[in-house]
Amino acid sequence: MNTSPAPLSTPKKTKAPYMIDDIVTPAIPDDERLWVPQAENFWFRPLMFNTVSGEWVNVVRIRTSGVISRHRHPAPVHGYAISGSWRYLEHSWVATPGSYVFEPPGEVHTLVMHEGCEEMTTLFHISGALIYIDEDGVTTGFDDVHTKIEMCRKHFAEVGLGEDYVRQFIR
Ligand code: FE
Repeated sequence: MNTSPAPLSTPKKTKAPYMIDDIVTPAIPDDERLWVPQAENFWFRPLMFNTVSGEWVNVVRIRTSGVISRHRHPAPVHGYAISGSWRYLEHSWVATPGSYVFEPPGEVHTLVMHEGCEEMTTLFHISGALIYIDEDGVTTGFDDVHTKIEMCRKHFAEVGLGEDYVRQFIR
């Protein structure tokens, strides 16, 4: 029996004309400077910003207990829980490491840490915006791909990486 692996053939053409560049980077970086502060006890690690479709991919890291934020999604969100456990006040389920979460357009929810958990990391692929609302349903603010890029620009300048460090994540 031949157990040696089949020889890998190299495709003649690996990149189509006008194709944009790929991104390969640690989702959980060792360099603390790559965690961009979003709010108190709340950071995000940027991975990809799509300025054509208005989507972005980031790892959210929260280090606190209790309520984080209440918001509405006008477009879909996909999440993958990496560490810690959290939930939404509006739902009975709890996201634990390895959970996949789909947040449909129209979803309004309030992110809280699960009992006894004080740190979570979750990868989110977000489209459109997060529209922040208070307990009365009144809009208090929003984030979209451009506010996220702007937060990165300011932070990367402050920590000495330079504001253009964010450019590698933008497509
Ligand atoms: Fe959400």
